[in-house]
Amino acid sequence: MQFSSIIGQESLKQQLIQSVANKRVPHAIMLLGQEGSGHLSLAVAFAQYLNCENRFVDENINNDSTGDSCGECSSCMKSQKLIHPDIHFTYPVVSTKGSKPKSTDFIEEWRKAFFENPYLNIQDWIESLDAENKQGNISVEECHEIIRSLNFKSFESIYKIYIIWMPEFLREAGNVLLKSLEEPAENTIFILVADNQEQILNTILSRVQLLKIPRLKDEEIIFQLEHKQGISVKEAHAITRQVDGNFNEALKLAGNSEDDNEKLYILFLRICLKGSHEGKTLIDFCEKVNTELGRENMKGLLRYGLDLMREVFVLEHIGETKARLTENELKLAQYMNQRLSFKSKEEIIKRLEESCFHLERNANPKILFMNLGIFLSHLLKRNEVVLT
Ligand SMILES: [Zn+2]
Repeated sequence: MQFSSIIGQESLKQQLIQSVANKRVPHAIMLLGQEGSGHLSLAVAFAQYLNCENRFVDENINNDSTGDSCGECSSCMKSQKLIHPDIHFTYPVVSTKGSKPKSTDFIEEWRKAFFENPYLNIQDWIESLDAENKQGNISVEECHEIIRSLNFKSFESIYKIYIIWMPEFLREAGNVLLKSLEEPAENTIFILVADNQEQILNTILSRVQLLKIPRLKDEEIIFQLEHKQGISVKEAHAITRQVDGNFNEALKLAGNSEDDNEKLYILFLRICLKGSHEGKTLIDFCEKVNTELGRENMKGLLRYGLDLMREVFVLEHIGETKARLTENELKLAQYMNQRLSFKSKEEIIKRLEESCFHLERNANPKILFMNLGIFLSHLLKRNEVVLT
């Protein structure tokens, strides 16, 4: 993977490239960023850059270096397929292949998952292993394996690189690596890629150079969705509003149509208000959501509702949201503003946020949508919202 194929993060890329130009590459770096910021991709691109035989560096007028790996040399070809013998990957794994699983046992699955989506999160990874209910782990054995391999020279490139994805899962096993992180072998570089600083051992944090990866800018996500994923401008804006800089989430929302969410959410509100719509009751609706949607799409539906409520507020207080809403959404937003008090709208937002929170923590979807429906039904009837 080349730097040029990673969305945004220009100053980070430059910082990494500059460290090579100045011959000041830290021996242990932690790329710390929120999910979907591209930190894993940056680690992979940096590893490829370090071992590229024909690195491209462009000194500009401010003496800042920009550049990239060539993408064509034998080292790059291997790096791009994640088969470079000097670039090692460690990631959480599950015990579906024996009681002491190591990362290499899952390397085929890892390559496939990364190529499918280099912005994947830990749940996506574990789900891709058909092990949804299992806990991922980076074992002591894995750490010993790393230590053992440090004794060998690199096979064919200058640098031996260890990319450790999700060091949060090292837990106490991480202590095995402390000495190596502190006094690395020559031309050995550790790149740790983490989401959550608080879940990482302090002893590890104190031994790495921390590079904080900012969230992606909204315009970068919009551009990507529109030009690379073929999503309409309007939909790209709608998706970006919901994801707070998380490109992984944006890709998932792009996969389930906004149109479907709009239709389904309006159906939900109609049923809540009237008890049924076109013969469908709240129980039917919850059954449909539970059997047809899948957890990611359910989250998408709730986020859609949340996003729409925010637009309702914007329309009332700032009044400039029309361009972003479809005709049906605008009609609904105007009705809500006519019929619902400020407090009721706040209550809906709070309830939707709570529902998202519980859904992410594996609440039973049927019960969750039923409870939400009963709450909305009570609130909408109390306020006599008319839905056309
Ligand atoms: Zn190259």
